[in-house]
Amino acid sequence: MVRRFDVIVVGGGLVGLAIAYGLAREGLRVAVCDEGERGFCASRGNFGLVWVQGKGADLPAYARLTAQSAQLWPVFAERLRGESGIDPALTQPGGFHLCLSADELAARAAAMARLQAHTPEFRYDVLDAREVRRRIPAIAPDFAGAIHSPHDGHVDPLKTLHALFIAFRVRGGVYLPRHGVAGITAERGAFTLSTAGGALQCGRLVLAAGLGNARLAPWVGLSAPVAPVRGQIMITERLAPFLPYPTTLVRQTDEGTVQIGESQEAAGFDDGTLPEVLAGMARRAIRLFPRLRSARVVRAWGALRIMTPDGFPLYEESRRHPGAFMTTCHSGVTLAAAHCDIVAPWVAGKADPGFAENFRAGRFAL
Ligand SMILES: Cc1cc2nc3c(=O)[nH]c(=O)nc-3n(C[C@H](O)[C@H](O)[C@H](O)COP(=O)(O)OP(=O)(O)OC[C@H]3O[C@@H](n4cnc5c(N)ncnc54)[C@H](O)[C@@H]3O)c2cc1C
Repeated sequence: MVRRFDVIVVGGGLVGLAIAYGLAREGLRVAVCDEGERGFCASRGNFGLVWVQGKGADLPAYARLTAQSAQLWPVFAERLRGESGIDPALTQPGGFHLCLSADELAARAAAMARLQAHTPEFRYDVLDAREVRRRIPAIAPDFAGAIHSPHDGHVDPLKTLHALFIAFRVRGGVYLPRHGVAGITAERGAFTLSTAGGALQCGRLVLAAGLGNARLAPWVGLSAPVAPVRGQIMITERLAPFLPYPTTLVRQTDEGTVQIGESQEAAGFDDGTLPEVLAGMARRAIRLFPRLRSARVVRAWGALRIMTPDGFPLYEESRRHPGAFMTTCHSGVTLAAAHCDIVAPWVAGKADPGFAENFRAGRFAL
């Protein structure tokens, strides 16, 4: 028996679920199929920033999309909370990128200036250490300064994922775990997927399988040149509140735990942890926040980012098989609101088809 849907989204991570939730809100009959717990899933191992500063310094369309998403997030979070009963714990108090050396601060400031040159509404400040300490008294004096942007914030990424899952189902969406897709055929405007759970059919198809898109995309005439970039994160026991703003290295969660993590490593498909990388990040965090010296680390993990050669997203509809879409990005937390409110209507054919012009994989062709 073949089960039929208006749209099938392959991949039940943050990208797939945000788009699927948006499509279900459009009144479409939507299924999400996922291979299950054993696959790589960046959405279960990320840092939780809703981050604008520095995004799209070299691609204005990406800077705009990121800024739009950050603006959409408060309403999106409220809607998710209302429909799922789970609060994604969004706060957008502004964020800091802390720099230990003057060179680091200068390089970062130059990137911000590039970003502002093409996106004048982007606001940021370059702050010296004294000004940062005025705003974050718990920080040690021994660093160069920081970039601050009022647009930045953070969420609980696991609660966000859970909220999306529930809200999607509340909207009538069908979630199919253990439905790894092993083949796709396109015929007369319909797509047939052979999956571990049986055959599925749809009129529109969204590939949102993260690193899995590299294998799936060619089946519908697309190409997804994505590669893994590992990040390692550790989390401490709960501490009394001391850090009212998220930073790119350290953030205190709504529950009081402190997340530390900023590594970027080429480690293939190894999503493990390395003591020397964790120790390096811990040293940097303790140098900035000495009170962390006595904090107990309760868990550490590695997860794989989904990275294109230029770091920018891919959004593309297949020319050979219209109705098949590919979506992938390395900031799926930040972009979740845009995926629901901008990308889903585009997939449904209700939004500007020009939206994806700057995000096609053709940009990598020689
Ligand atoms: C360490 C780290 C820190 C990060 N920090 C941030 C941050 O602070 N802010 C931010 O915005 N982003 C951050 N990110 C990025 C963010 O986590 C990702 O952009 C996002 O999770 C990608 O979601 P996704 O749904 O595309 O992919 P994934 O979460 O990887 O999900 C893909 C899903 O597809 C499934 N799948 C694969 N192949 C198939 C198949 N053939 N059939 C069926 N299912 C399949 C997989 O099992 C998986 O469940 C971070 C990432 C990492 C690794």
